[in-house]
Amino acid sequence: MAKQKDTSKQANAHLHELFVDELRDILGAERQLLKGLKKMENAAQSEQLKDAFKTHYQQTEGQIERLKSVFEELGMSARGKKCKAMEGLLAEAEEIIEEFQDDADVIDAALIAAAQKVEHYEIASYGCVVTYAKLMGHKQAQETLFQTLEEEKQTDSLLTDIALSSANKK
Ligand code: FE
Ligand code: FE
Ligand code: FE
Repeated sequence: MAKQKDTSKQANAHLHELFVDELRDILGAERQLLKGLKKMENAAQSEQLKDAFKTHYQQTEGQIERLKSVFEELGMSARGKKCKAMEGLLAEAEEIIEEFQDDADVIDAALIAAAQKVEHYEIASYGCVVTYAKLMGHKQAQETLFQTLEEEKQTDSLLTDIALSSANKK
């Protein structure tokens, strides 16, 4: 009996470690993304897509504040770490911008694809931390992170809508 209790305590400690590690990764990712969104906004041709990137820049600032509040709830300092996946996704976005910036017909579609890859990464990451928070009974953190998860999903579907509407026009 005592042994079982020990094991579950240990499992919880490991899950907590994983939770914090993932939160640090996402915080780093969001901070890295701010720069990327500025570049994508500048490179976008249509006003609609520029606006979408501008709006998501502001949302991303809010998401960083939410993450800080989660760290505060856990009694930890809001220290991020470099997210290698975001680094790679943004490097690819820059490559795309360089390659297609002079091709007005293609640049927006290329930017949407790059941005959706970013959103999908974030959706996966927030999906995980929402689940971890739930498993560990961090109700407030769960709700806070869920708000961001929904925002990322909305952004993803907005990008799909923009892609479809501009493709239809063409
Ligand atoms: Fe985000
Ligand atoms: Fe990462
Ligand atoms: Fe996002």
